[in-house]
Amino acid sequence: MNTLSTPGSLFVVAAPSGAGKSSLVKQLLAQDGQLHLSISHTTRAPRGQEVDGREYHFVDTPTFERMVAQGAFIEWAQVHGNGYGTSRAAIAARLGAGEDVLLEIDFQGALQIKRIFAHAVLVFILPPSWAELQRRLTGRGEDAPAVIAQRMANARQEVAQAPRFDYVIINGSFEDALADLQTIVRAQRLTYAAQARRQAATFAALDLN
Ligand code: 5GP
Repeated sequence: MNTLSTPGSLFVVAAPSGAGKSSLVKQLLAQDGQLHLSISHTTRAPRGQEVDGREYHFVDTPTFERMVAQGAFIEWAQVHGNGYGTSRAAIAARLGAGEDVLLEIDFQGALQIKRIFAHAVLVFILPPSWAELQRRLTGRGEDAPAVIAQRMANARQEVAQAPRFDYVIINGSFEDALADLQTIVRAQRLTYAAQARRQAATFAALDLN
C-alpha cells in the first residue's frame, strides 16, 4: 500500500491504562506550543470534568458507525467496549500545513497509523513493572477490583505490542519519562526531512533541497 507523506511530523503515543500516558502528554503539550493534540471521537460517555470538543468529540454509536461507513476515520478501534477514532478532519489540515500533530491513541490505532503514514513516530510508554502498574491502577481509587483485574489482563496484551513501536519509554520517574518524550520529539524535528521542511529558506540558501 502507498503511504502518505505530510509536511508536519506525526507522533503517536500509546500505553496501557495506568502507565501515565495522559499526564505525560498533557505536560509535553503544555511545554511545546508547536505540538497539536488530535481530538478523537468516542462513543463513551464524558467522565468528570471532560468537555465535548476538548478531551473528545463525544458521539452516539449510530453517529460513530455512520462516520466509519463514510470513511471519516483515518483509524478507529474498539477499546474497552467503546468506539474510538481519529477523524481525517482532526489531523489532515494541520499536517498539510506543516504543523506537528500528536495522537494519544491505543496500540491498534497506532499500528494502523503507521501503515498509512510511514513517517509517523510511534512511542510506547511502559510501566516499570507489573506490580507498579497494579499499584497505580489501585491507587487511583476509581475502579472496582474486577475492573482493575480486567485492565491488568488488557495491559499484558497491549504491552506485548511494544516491539512494533519505534521508541519505548519506561515511566518510572515522571520527570525522566517527560524528558525522554521531549527528546524524541526534538530528535524527530532534527531529521533531515523535517529540517528541510521547517528550514526551507535556509536550505535553499545553502543550495540544499
Ligand atoms: P479513555 O476512555 O481512557 O480516554 O481512553 C481509552 C483508550 O482509548 C486509551 O488508550 C486512549 O489512548 C485510546 N484512544 C483515545 N482516542 C483514540 C482514537 O482516536 N483511536 C484509538 N484507536 N484509540 C483511542
